[in-house]
Amino acid sequence: MYLIRKSASGTDSISVVKSARMATTKKRELNFKDFPAGTITEYTTLVCLACIFDIFTKQFGLAPRTAFTEIKHHAPTIEELTRPGAMRPYFDSEEKHPHCPYCGAAKRWLTRFDTYCIEGGKTTDAARRTLVRKLPKADDQFLIIEKKSDSRAVFFEWLDTLGRNLDLNDESWLIEATRMYLERREPKTNWEEMFDDLRAVRRSNRLTEGWERDGARLFLAPNIYCEALVIQYLVSRSHAHGGVTLEGRLTLTELVRRIRHKGYLDQIGITEREPGEVFEKLIDHLAATHEWSHVRTPKRQVAKKKSKKATRKTAKKSRKITVLQPEVDEIVTEPVKLHYIVDRRDFLEKVKSVYAAYAA
Ligand SMILES: [Zn+2]
Repeated sequence: MYLIRKSASGTDSISVVKSARMATTKKRELNFKDFPAGTITEYTTLVCLACIFDIFTKQFGLAPRTAFTEIKHHAPTIEELTRPGAMRPYFDSEEKHPHCPYCGAAKRWLTRFDTYCIEGGKTTDAARRTLVRKLPKADDQFLIIEKKSDSRAVFFEWLDTLGRNLDLNDESWLIEATRMYLERREPKTNWEEMFDDLRAVRRSNRLTEGWERDGARLFLAPNIYCEALVIQYLVSRSHAHGGVTLEGRLTLTELVRRIRHKGYLDQIGITEREPGEVFEKLIDHLAATHEWSHVRTPKRQVAKKKSKKATRKTAKKSRKITVLQPEVDEIVTEPVKLHYIVDRRDFLEKVKSVYAAYAA
């Protein structure tokens, strides 16, 4: 089970995969080089045409010719294409030469749907429109499906993908998770280069923002370091044992205490004391700021600008109010559009050849 997230350079930077590629490698990859890292998730689902023909001819009682016409228009749902446990006639397999788990059919009966999920937003909208415009239109070779989601759901989906890509038994996952988080936070930076031969990630005592590489170590400003800890916690947490971070295994209470001590909670304006409440606010904060990269000016300046504006507004209403809450209170779950592109090309070709064999 793996999916692939494309990085800006077009190389596979993360891969969870829903099912294995079939032995035939991809001939006609879509080009996602104009998309920031972590904004595309790729799913591959295998489908057995022997099973499909069987369903249409035996269960629905259609003549092979009619079945063929119907099958050609077959449009799976996004759930069918992206859920971890596929159901007949879909299946996931990591084998090089997979067989249908339902009827045992061999390769020539099997085909695949490649599904790409693009996270909508300022960094991807223009590139997505260009990409979609260039896709061939005939025979519905590509389906474009839109789904409404929100920043929280997208964030958890991202964490889930991240978790499936990491080997939590290998300690290097902590560094890998940090890289994935930074790629999401700052897609414009070449993190592959930054993490090349990296041995350790540390909290900087000097930096107030950003990061700095020194030899084999990467130093992160305290706020970024704290966020990396939270991400590591989220990826590895289990109900009984807390989560594993660069600072060892921590329970939620311990994690909250540490990031509070490092000044992170104050910095982002979380004033709650109860760990559960802090946690909820943290999630909203991390989920909502997934487009940090688009904020060109450093975060603090943006916050300042906002409060100035707010001060002016408030001042008109009542001159007595002078203290303003930090910006975090404004953060709520944001709607996010997900754009799915389903590649049906392999499916259409295979249906044709299988029908030829089936009708013969
Ligand atoms: Zn089958």
